[in-house]
Amino acid sequence: MENYQVLLYYHYVNIEDPESFAKEHKAVCESFNLLGRILFSHEGVNGTCSGTKEDTARYINYMNNHPLFHEMPFKIDPSDGHAFQKLKVKPRPELVTLRLGAEDVDPHEITGNYLEPEDFYQAMQDENTVVIDARNDYEFDLGHFRNAIRPDIRTFRELPQWIDEHKEKFKDKRILTYCTGGIRCEKFSGWLLQKGFENVNQLHGGIATYAKHPATKGQLWDGKMYVFDERISVPINQVEHVIVGRDHFDGTPCERYVNCGNPDCNEQILCSEENEAKYLRGCTHACRTHPRNRYNEEHNLSTDEINRRLLALETETIDTTM
Ligand SMILES: [Zn+2]
Repeated sequence: MENYQVLLYYHYVNIEDPESFAKEHKAVCESFNLLGRILFSHEGVNGTCSGTKEDTARYINYMNNHPLFHEMPFKIDPSDGHAFQKLKVKPRPELVTLRLGAEDVDPHEITGNYLEPEDFYQAMQDENTVVIDARNDYEFDLGHFRNAIRPDIRTFRELPQWIDEHKEKFKDKRILTYCTGGIRCEKFSGWLLQKGFENVNQLHGGIATYAKHPATKGQLWDGKMYVFDERISVPINQVEHVIVGRDHFDGTPCERYVNCGNPDCNEQILCSEENEAKYLRGCTHACRTHPRNRYNEEHNLSTDEINRRLLALETETIDTTM
């Protein structure tokens, strides 16, 4: 058990030709039997991959001997097996989808003050501090730092506009930002500084580093951390576990993500196994009754059975409204 490792890493560094770089790097990853998702752009690398302990160690060694990546830190999680099904090594216009356009920032030129886990932990408890989660809403919903602000957005790329509309909230405050591994904050905190906010700080190494720090032990984190691999989530707080996730259907505490059964919707929803069966894994009525609903297909549900469950839902709705 736990003979595998999952790696998470990024590095902002100029890459001349990301397309051919990605192609060559794919062959390197294949030679180490790695699976995962690694993106290259003109501004660097953003990667996560899995492999055996030996293979991942060889890969880290390879990267640390590479002139572009010798300073790059790796976040390492033990795992029972591969955390990915495929290997994707791709060139991308941006390492993180922020779509800042003309307002784009180079973290080498401007980025928030780095706070190590212990300092971040202290700073979070100061009343003159605002903590902004720089991740997507479905990541926040499963877990976040206690009292962190959840910007009312669907994806990271909407964040700049949201900040623009709510800037009064952050004026004269010490701003802390955090994300999974730190890559999104490098840009986001730089952008905040460029926007005129003065006291901008970012969690160095992200939540992944904070979780493992011997002094902070992940404290003040509630719920679990969403990860972009087959594990879906990992524990962070080693001292206490407060569940903040809520079942999409009945609002009860829940930390189980599934993708909506409607392949055209594919929305990630938190729900219990019981509610998944009851609601045919559909986030809405339209998704439940979609002709290619994957739940219905996977369970070989007959039309009669589907109709029986849909009718049961209708009856329940009538009951509760009476
Ligand atoms: Zn849906």
